[in-house]
Amino acid sequence: MKVAVFSTKTYDRQFLLAANSPVQHELVFFEPLLNRDTAILASGFPAVCVFVHDQVDAPTLEILAAGGTRLIALRCAGFNNVDLKAASELGITIVRVPAYSPYGVAEHAVGLILSLNRKIHHAYNRVREGNFSLTRLLGFNLHQRTVGIIGTGKIGLILGQIMKGFGCNLLAYDVYKNPGLEALGGKYVELPELFANSDIISLHCPLMPETHHLINKEAIEQVKPGVMIINTSRGALIDTQAVINGLKTGKIGYLGIDVYEQESELFFEDLSGEIIQDDIFQRLTTFPNVLITGHQAFFTEEALHNIAETTFGNISDIEQGRPCANELRYQPEKSLIA
Ligand code: NAD
Repeated sequence: MKVAVFSTKTYDRQFLLAANSPVQHELVFFEPLLNRDTAILASGFPAVCVFVHDQVDAPTLEILAAGGTRLIALRCAGFNNVDLKAASELGITIVRVPAYSPYGVAEHAVGLILSLNRKIHHAYNRVREGNFSLTRLLGFNLHQRTVGIIGTGKIGLILGQIMKGFGCNLLAYDVYKNPGLEALGGKYVELPELFANSDIISLHCPLMPETHHLINKEAIEQVKPGVMIINTSRGALIDTQAVINGLKTGKIGYLGIDVYEQESELFFEDLSGEIIQDDIFQRLTTFPNVLITGHQAFFTEEALHNIAETTFGNISDIEQGRPCANELRYQPEKSLIA
């Protein structure tokens, strides 16, 4: 099938070309994001392949449909950037990669926890400058601390397993209980109890209307003073301004984020020679107890391999009329934030 592949970097091409070798789809790579301005590039392509920042909104979908596109293959699990209702009305099939690196994301969350706690990012710079002072590098044992996991699906469960290995107590909140988390000794509680008792809170639920700004002013009022908040899920789970206020008062002791509400303006690009216009993001970078990575939690060899293989498997399934387990169907009662 002829596939227009948007938002491609060198590393994407490497893994996509390798996985395409046995199936021989006709790939054309485009560096820009897909949006209503660039959708015209896909004219004449029955399939379009996109990633997390591509804007698959109704106007973009209309342009794609008019150009003959009938299939959109997401190279990611989250689909908050896709207007499923509009796609369904236009007869465009949407497929995704539901799981590609749950271990990679959970391990990255642990990396943020360890770096923030033991100030490894500060120590790295100090030692390179000949500063071997320990002042302000004091950390705490993870052993017997309480980790509150919000969203205990694939990634949340793995985080629970790893943190259990450190000897942590696990609290959890989810709309569905995962027996695997309970088997670890994790205890499901309501959010106020999780907020009040967790030393570390890590977010692993999807972005939906119900979870938008889950960490907001009211939530921050309930957390333990000095709490560590980790977000490797989606930026808008956190009200960034409220978190900045919490950091300023000291109520939040540490913040580790791999995702940011307005990240599509920033992440995945080298902006080191430019003036960043996002003042909220810039304020975040001034805190010594904030560690930000640019949506790299998924970024492992295994993930890129799995993403590429599953994506072409999905495209081949749809092309050959086979049922595809990774097809997303519009469910009005579960409408997501676009
Ligand atoms: P998953 O579907 O396996 O688990 C999500 C869990 O969230 C489920 O158990 C679900 O019941 C729960 N949930 C749904 N609504 C909830 C609510 N209102 N409150 C609490 N929990 C709720 O997904 P996953 O594979 O574990 O991924 C989790 C999230 O991680 C994804 O939604 C995605 O946004 C993010 N992610 C980030 C990266 C990255 O590179 N940073 C990579 C992959 C996934």
